[in-house]
Amino acid sequence: MRVELITLAVCCTLAAQDPLQRERDRMVADQIEARGVRDGGVLRAMRAVPRHLFVPPAVAKLAYEDHPLPIGHEQTISQPYIVALMTELLDVKRDSIVLEIGTGSGYQAAVLSLLAREVYTIELIPELAHSAAQRLRELGYSNVVVKTGDGYAGWPEKAPFDRIILTAAPPEIPHTLIDQLKRGGKLVAPVGRSSQTLVLLSKRRDGTVERKSVLPVAFVPMRPAR
Ligand code: SAH
Repeated sequence: MRVELITLAVCCTLAAQDPLQRERDRMVADQIEARGVRDGGVLRAMRAVPRHLFVPPAVAKLAYEDHPLPIGHEQTISQPYIVALMTELLDVKRDSIVLEIGTGSGYQAAVLSLLAREVYTIELIPELAHSAAQRLRELGYSNVVVKTGDGYAGWPEKAPFDRIILTAAPPEIPHTLIDQLKRGGKLVAPVGRSSQTLVLLSKRRDGTVERKSVLPVAFVPMRPAR
């Protein structure tokens, strides 16, 4: 009884601190668990990260709905289900060092930061990189490092990575990124131009790679740096 009362008190305090907790719980149940994402860590992270603070105020009301949203500069934040699915496929461990290409709003990086040891994320558009870095800092996601740069080059100073995730679609998975993936590592990416497929690539212990196509997707293109 006493434990229950304490639990109830903690729940109510948390809900009062974040009135949108209920919307996130509903998003996870209806859009993410209902479609088959089961990983407990991923579901917890999706319930925890305040997605409404990662989108422009004009669309914040739509943050927990079942679709992608504009984040400025003609870029988009993925639908919650796709973020959860890609995070589950990436199979992040507590000690993983993760590289993300396409920081955008910083939302996917925040989700990853709750599961990984460190997240390094690269964004081509300087304004997006700066605002994401500031947002992540203010919200306390202290194990994320953002840099402005070209994802095609990866982050050689921090390589190799246990996990790599691309949130913009290249025509083919760049070799540089496969080279920066550890043996035993995994990479998740939308791949293709006119039609795109979500691909899970695993690098075996002997250095060879295995590719699996997961489902058709629609991401913004990964642009070559000028
Ligand atoms: N993960 C983001 C959404 C990313 S949208 C989020 O959670 O909000 C894809 C992002 O990839 C865009 O911000 C786009 O500017 C960026 N991008 C496109 N080409 C890139 C490249 N070559 N290198 C780094 N970032 C790139």
